[in-house]
Amino acid sequence: MEQDVLAEIGTIVGTENYSTSMADLYTYGFDASIHHVTPEVVVQPRTPQQVADLVALANRLRIPVVPRGAGTGLCGGAVPLEKGMVIDLSRMNKIKEIRVEDLYCVCEPGVVYDDLQKALGKYKFSFPPAPGSAEAATIGGMVATNASGMRAIKYGGTRDYVLGLKVVLPTGELIEVGTRTLKNASGYQLERLFVGSEGTLGIIVEVTLRIVPKPKKTAMIVAGFDTLEKAGKCVSALIAKPLLPSAVEIMDSTCIRAVNQVVNAGLPDVEALCMIEVDGHPQIVAEELEEVVKVCESIGAVGLQQSDDPAQMAKWTASRKSVMASLSRLYSNLCSVSLADDMAVPISKIPEAVVAFGQIAKKYNVIVGTYGHAADGNLHTKMLLDPESEESWKNGEKAVEEIFDVSVKLGGTVTGEHGVGISKAPYFQKERATMLEAMAAIKRALDPNNIMNPGKLQAWEGSIITHLRYPCDGYCDRG
Ligand SMILES: Cc1cc2nc3c(=O)[nH]c(=O)nc-3n(C[C@H](O)[C@H](O)[C@H](O)COP(=O)(O)OP(=O)(O)OC[C@H]3O[C@@H](n4cnc5c(N)ncnc54)[C@H](O)[C@@H]3O)c2cc1C
Repeated sequence: MEQDVLAEIGTIVGTENYSTSMADLYTYGFDASIHHVTPEVVVQPRTPQQVADLVALANRLRIPVVPRGAGTGLCGGAVPLEKGMVIDLSRMNKIKEIRVEDLYCVCEPGVVYDDLQKALGKYKFSFPPAPGSAEAATIGGMVATNASGMRAIKYGGTRDYVLGLKVVLPTGELIEVGTRTLKNASGYQLERLFVGSEGTLGIIVEVTLRIVPKPKKTAMIVAGFDTLEKAGKCVSALIAKPLLPSAVEIMDSTCIRAVNQVVNAGLPDVEALCMIEVDGHPQIVAEELEEVVKVCESIGAVGLQQSDDPAQMAKWTASRKSVMASLSRLYSNLCSVSLADDMAVPISKIPEAVVAFGQIAKKYNVIVGTYGHAADGNLHTKMLLDPESEESWKNGEKAVEEIFDVSVKLGGTVTGEHGVGISKAPYFQKERATMLEAMAAIKRALDPNNIMNPGKLQAWEGSIITHLRYPCDGYCDRG
């Protein structure tokens, strides 16, 4: 990047708050996806006005801009595909207000989910979406991807809590959308437009979130099954009972083996399991636990374990959260990669979906670990590939396409919570063909010079096996 542009950036944020060092640029080329592209400059603003000035500069000079939270995104959303400027929002990390009597809090975009939860916990309140990446994911990143997590079945996802936003538009204009009130019928609900926009429509610089009281009691049941299909049937039987668990996590035998081997999780050695969580008033929790046991037994559960001990429940939850990392360490030559990893299907279709995923994995000779927030139909299938083998990636890509085709055919979507980025773009385009032109029109209206996170979502053309972070000839990023 030219020296005079860097000088302008330095004037806006201070010379200590941007970097062009090779090590920094290389590092900021990653998120948690399979992709990598090295940007030209990384900037760490501290105020909304600095963000606005940076974006106005980029718009004037047509520099691509990619906003970034913690870089935990799994589909390349924060990877600077067209290089340019990465704006790292992690230094804007103040919780500005917690107003329990008005049921909202206000924070900067770089606040980490767990830090907000800790602060709200002091008042016995919560922002419930709870992504698996809670220790690192930022509130801005969560809004931009409409993140959710294991408790979405009962409490919803990020979109259900966004009351208002401050956003820097691609022209550099700072606008406010939404309100601080729980109800709002004043005009277009533009705050929703930025939820799931993945940095393509502007930069979120302040978030007002609805908050809710924490449940008084929580308890968990771990139920083993002799087939993955039965575990899937258990999920829909629980929901149809009717019961409203706060979470049901499903894990297949590959995932169970991985966490038992790698983090010594001590989970039962079964073909599949469901981790079921109920919460609420203690008396209701006791009654619901009894009903959950009956449903699990009716499906043929084996080795039921139950606990309300916080330490045991934390151990079970931690083992579930460690699936992704553990899968990568299961085989010395294979690596767990985020391909086809986040489809959602109607809850009753889970058994059919998991059986089909297993057949597709076999057909293409790839190993797939299936787990996920099954209570809301959201499944994760992590693929284990040889990251240096072209053939392995090609097989993976074929399996991805079929897995997504099955998911959509069953009435589902290619992404329940991780978003589109690059890794899901062609399949998202196939699923949502009728809305792509409307999306492109909104993008043109707000970002006439196409500077914000260009080339993603509806704009991506080509294969997803591209700009790989792995050393696979012909596919990797050499930038
Ligand atoms: C181990 C692991 C577990 C995970 N579990 C879950 C889960 O349970 N549920 C879930 O939903 N996701 C999960 N994820 C994915 C990821 O954590 C979420 O997508 C999260 O919301 C990303 O937040 P981030 O701050 O890391 O954003 P980043 O990865 O930095 O960015 C994500 C996208 O948002 C944009 N963006 C970031 N900040 C802003 C901003 N202020 N304004 C505008 N655009 C912005 C970026 O440009 C990018 O397109 C997981 C990831 C990992 C690695």
